[in-house]
Amino acid sequence: MKTVYMDNNATSQVAGEVLAEMLPFFTETYGNPSSMHSFGGAVGKHINNARGQIATLLGCDESEIIFTSGGTESDNAAIKGALAAEPEKRKIITTRVEHPAVLTTCRELESQGYNVVELGVDSHGQIDISQLEAELDDSTAIVSIMYANNETGVIFPIEKIGEIVKAAGAVLHTDAVQAVGKIPLNLSSAKIDLLSLSGHKLHGPKGIGVLYVRKGTRLSPFIAGGHQEKGRRAGTENTAGIVGLGKACEIAGEFIAEENTTVRKLRDKLEKTILTTCPDAILNGDKNNRLPNTTNISFEFIEGEAILLLLDQFGICASSGSACTSGSLEPSHVLRAMGVPFTAAHGSIRYSLSRYNTEAEVDFVAEKMPTIINQLRELSPFVK
Ligand code: PLP
Repeated sequence: MKTVYMDNNATSQVAGEVLAEMLPFFTETYGNPSSMHSFGGAVGKHINNARGQIATLLGCDESEIIFTSGGTESDNAAIKGALAAEPEKRKIITTRVEHPAVLTTCRELESQGYNVVELGVDSHGQIDISQLEAELDDSTAIVSIMYANNETGVIFPIEKIGEIVKAAGAVLHTDAVQAVGKIPLNLSSAKIDLLSLSGHKLHGPKGIGVLYVRKGTRLSPFIAGGHQEKGRRAGTENTAGIVGLGKACEIAGEFIAEENTTVRKLRDKLEKTILTTCPDAILNGDKNNRLPNTTNISFEFIEGEAILLLLDQFGICASSGSACTSGSLEPSHVLRAMGVPFTAAHGSIRYSLSRYNTEAEVDFVAEKMPTIINQLRELSPFVK
């Protein structure tokens, strides 16, 4: 059975060109860049080349790139590192719809005595900027607001947020794990101090990411050890991962227009067909202000997990927002924050496409959906 992969916000296929670029770093160019011999030393220039490729995509300087193990580490390092650099400031502002890498970190810090404010969102998944303005004060160390939401694809007005946060004298961190490579960003114009990205969301490898740190931003070192990454993030460099991430970013830059035309068109076709052919289907998130590859649809009165199981029988990979915690299925915290009713939040499915999807795949998924939904509705105790 052929796999139809529409779960790219969870992880993505490593591009062939990326893999090809990485392979020599396992068996040929495997030296340690910190070594005194030229075999190891030669690796350093490849790391710097990758830094350049990433900086070009982000519109920043190479010196502002710190390699990490991925989005989760970058988020942790940004928030904890900014707090440690300014210990007298005890307030953190974030949103209720962040990824757990940010939300759990902030809640852990709250239990240690920090003052954490989680901004709510409206039914479109958007924050109210005036609430952010009202919460900012002299005690605010850091504001952490994602660039785009992983479940709904909703994009936040980070440039505007940057202006407000900087005027208040706080540090702005944005988790851009889902945005990088899907929409253009330019750090030379945006007032962002810290930004997280992750390789495996943009057709790069897993286990590699970046924390962008704007020049002059106060951030404490987050992994102690050797002198790598200017002493801020110690540990022998994941050379193959770094080179792969660099290549993935270079290619992402070339494909960004396609993401916003071809991929968007495919996503729109899938979404429109499902919403027309499946009764009681509701689109979650802002219709227009969204990542071009993501659609999140609720099917009332049925469980998302049941839909996923039936999709799986056809080789279709998507995801539901629910988290299976201690045997009970909790509906997505993002959809609950948006006020989506329980009956709909439980039955939500996220399809996240990529440049590797085809129109035939979209037609295949769209064709299967009404049958699956009708089959489950017949079994649902909630349908009268
Ligand atoms: N932030 C967002 C918005 C994400 O979607 C993810 C992954 O799903 C992460 C952070 C975590 O990234 P990683 O898997 O690289 O740790």
